[in-house]
Amino acid sequence: MINENIKEIIGKEYKCLNKGFVRLIDIMGDDSSIVQAARVSYGKGTKSVNEDLSLINYLMRNRHTSPFEMVELKFHIKLPIFVARQWIRHRTANVNEYSGRYSEMKNEFYIPESEQLRLQSAINKQGRSEELVDNETSDTVIEQMKNTQEFLFTEYENFLDKKIAREIARINLPLSTYTEWYWKIDLHNLFHFLELRLDHHAQYEIRVYGEVIADILKLAVPYAYTAFEDYMLNSVNLSKKELTALKEIISFDKFDQINFDSHRLKGRELSEFKEKIKKIINI
Ligand SMILES: Cc1cc2nc3c(=O)[nH]c(=O)nc-3n(C[C@H](O)[C@H](O)[C@H](O)COP(=O)(O)OP(=O)(O)OC[C@H]3O[C@@H](n4cnc5c(N)ncnc54)[C@H](O)[C@@H]3O)c2cc1C
Repeated sequence: MINENIKEIIGKEYKCLNKGFVRLIDIMGDDSSIVQAARVSYGKGTKSVNEDLSLINYLMRNRHTSPFEMVELKFHIKLPIFVARQWIRHRTANVNEYSGRYSEMKNEFYIPESEQLRLQSAINKQGRSEELVDNETSDTVIEQMKNTQEFLFTEYENFLDKKIAREIARINLPLSTYTEWYWKIDLHNLFHFLELRLDHHAQYEIRVYGEVIADILKLAVPYAYTAFEDYMLNSVNLSKKELTALKEIISFDKFDQINFDSHRLKGRELSEFKEKIKKIINI
C-alpha cells in the first residue's frame, strides 16, 4: 500500500487565484500509516488491501480520529492576506509566515476575475450572490482596485526610499497583498479544515485553495480521502427537530425493498445504518 504518487506531487506548484499557489513540501506517512496505527489498538487485524480500505472507512465513520493524525503534511502556500486571515483561524497547524518587518513586500496583489464580482447576497449576509454585476461596473471596479493597489505600493516604496522602517512602511498595504507561509498540519485536522473550507458557505477565494489541497490528498492518501468524502464531506448531520420532520417524509414500509448493496451499504456498515433508521423511527 506504499503510495508512489507522493514522489510526483512533492514540490509541484499548484496555481491558485491570479498569483497564489500551493506546494506540498513534505509528507510523513500515507494510507498505510493510518492502518498501521489503528492496528496497535485493534491487534493484528486485517491484512488485504480491501480490508485495509474498510478499516479506514470504519475509523472515519466512527470518528476514531487519532490514526489520521499519524499523517503529517507540510505545505508552502502563497495567498492574499484576506484569505490568510480566514486560514489562520485554524489553530491546529504550525505556521511560519513571510516577514514584512524583515523583508520588503512584493508588488503582488489579488484581483478577482470579473465573474467573481457579484452582488451582495440577500439571503447570506456573509456572502456574494449568483448575480453578476454588469460589464461596465465590473470593468470600473477592477480598474479602481488596480489603481489603488498601484498607488499604495508606490507610496510604500516611497516610504522605503525615505528609510522608514519596513514594519511601519507596510501598514497601509491592502488586504489583497500576497503573503506566503509554510503550513504544517496532520491529516485529521486538515480534513476538518477542508470540511469547513470546501463548503459552499466558505468564501470562494479560500475554497480555491481547499480544492487544490483536496486534489493533492486524492493522490497522497486516496483511501483516507475517499473515506473523508463519504463520511464527512458528503454526509449530513441532522438535529432532533430535523429527524422528527424526516420521520414523516420517509416511507418506512418500503425499507425492506431497498437494495442496500447498490448503495455500497453492507456488513457492519449496513447494521449501523439500520440502527440509525431505528433511532429515527423511535424518535
Ligand atoms: C463559513 C465560515 C464563516 C466564518 N465566519 C466567521 C466570522 O464571521 N467571524 C469569526 O471570527 N470567525 C468566523 N469563522 C471562523 C470560525 O469561527 C472558526 O474559527 C474557524 O473555522 C476554525 O474552526 P475551528 O476552531 O473548528 O478549527 P481549529 O482551530 O483548527 O480547531 C479544530 C478543533 O480543535 C478544537 N480547538 C482548537 N483550539 C481550541 C481551543 N482554544 N479551545 C477549545 N477547542 C479548541 C475545537 O474542537 C476545534 O473545532 C468562519 C468560518 C467559516 C468556515
